[in-house]
Amino acid sequence: DTAIVWFRRDLRVHDQPIFTAAAARARRSLAVFVLDERLLGPAGKARRTFLFRSLRDLDESLGGRLLVVRGDPVEAIPKLAGAVRAGSVHVAADFGPYGRERDEAVEKALGERDVDLVRTGSPYAVDPGKITKSDGEPYKVYTPFSREWAQRDKGAPADTDASTVEWMQPSEKNGGPRAVRIPADEPPEAELPEAGERAAHEHWEAFVDEHLADYDDLRDRPDKPATSRMSVYLKYGVIHPRQLLAGVGGSGKGVKGPESFRNELCFRDFYAAVLWFYPRSARENFDPKFDRMPYDSGPGAEERFRAWQEGRTGFPAIDAAMRQLRGQAWMHNRMRMAVASFLVKDLHLPWWRGARHFLQLLVDGDLPSNQHGWQWAAGTGTDAAPYFRVFNPVTQGERFDPQGEYVRRWVPELAGIEGKKVHQPWKLAEPPGDYPAPIVDHKAERQEALDRFNRL
Ligand code: FAD
Repeated sequence: DTAIVWFRRDLRVHDQPIFTAAAARARRSLAVFVLDERLLGPAGKARRTFLFRSLRDLDESLGGRLLVVRGDPVEAIPKLAGAVRAGSVHVAADFGPYGRERDEAVEKALGERDVDLVRTGSPYAVDPGKITKSDGEPYKVYTPFSREWAQRDKGAPADTDASTVEWMQPSEKNGGPRAVRIPADEPPEAELPEAGERAAHEHWEAFVDEHLADYDDLRDRPDKPATSRMSVYLKYGVIHPRQLLAGVGGSGKGVKGPESFRNELCFRDFYAAVLWFYPRSARENFDPKFDRMPYDSGPGAEERFRAWQEGRTGFPAIDAAMRQLRGQAWMHNRMRMAVASFLVKDLHLPWWRGARHFLQLLVDGDLPSNQHGWQWAAGTGTDAAPYFRVFNPVTQGERFDPQGEYVRRWVPELAGIEGKKVHQPWKLAEPPGDYPAPIVDHKAERQEALDRFNRL
């Protein structure tokens, strides 16, 4: 009797409830990952490279016994189940629009062979769909959701490692889908964090020791290493939020850092839940009133879009952030909000164009958090920043990068300007010649955005 452990976004061996489930069903299991073009396609080089490195690390943990195949899981998984005569296939549930459909199709195809698809756990602290209002309706507002979330038992990390399961050696002879090598890295332009489970834990422990206590005070500062940067490890399930929650500790008074950190993990669950209840919100305005919002188009708009993408808008904080996105395949949360507001409200371009660009470049690019982060900033989402709240691209820089260090780090043309003056180079007697003047007048565009909104 055999089982299949099908890895997707849970590339780890510790705290793996699917291992326990597989070991309870079968004496031996086959570990598999399917390279699925539908998921690989939209991920840029940084995310693909990080994924391949994470897979290599997982394969090593499993003693080289991870079978990697290429293709459509709806064909590959049932074929493999037939080849190894598996009675069950074990996964962590996927709640994204594509993953749900795929898993239903796989389940149906497996059912025709009398094989069970067994879902145990998910990539979230509380599964999407579990938290609703008392009448069963989904929460559309974060705060009441978070109150309910705080009450829920998130469970303790499961005590597993690679030896929890007796792994089968993948074999070419059994007629299953052909094994492929984990693809080579695609040299990313960005510096990426180290992949792998050990790296994730070391990174996490360093954050808890050095920065968690100040997290609430400093989390909005892009010039400081104040946030955890765990998003990429969470994206691929190299670590589970349950493990982070167990590590932050400190409930009760006077522990603002841990409290604030838990709150952010709750945001991740909230957006996954919103996407679960409203799968179309990945592409469409959550608030349909905005469907009639007019956006700019034509060559001028395209040129402004490129200036935004390439970090040459002439607003130093915006440009620093867009260059950080290229340089690290990551951007600080405060700056994600600022550049998103700038694209939508200063350049009058639709949020989904910015969201797509982010998903291409971000190493932590993740559909629910990204699309809803964008909708929040655009004012079209769940308890969004009201449309009339327009971020000022200069004061955001002055407030959150008060000494200008973040700008100087990412915009070398401005590296010679001291202190906060760096946020308004156009005010200098001699502005640097190789840095552009602002491409728009913020005050005028802010008014334009409000006028368009008021006409809706
Ligand atoms: P920390 O501050 O250390 O937070 C800890 C964890 O909490 C994060 O790793 C993340 O999992 C979660 N978290 C924090 N803030 C948020 C948030 N606002 N929404 C949801 N989860 C949150 N996050 C992604 O993981 N992937 C994305 O593609 C993504 N796109 C975004 C796009 C926009 C326009 C905005 C405004 C936010 C986006 N976020 C996204 C949320 C947030 O910016 C990142 O999770 C965060 O910057 C990651 O850095 P960190 O791990 O150091 O965060």
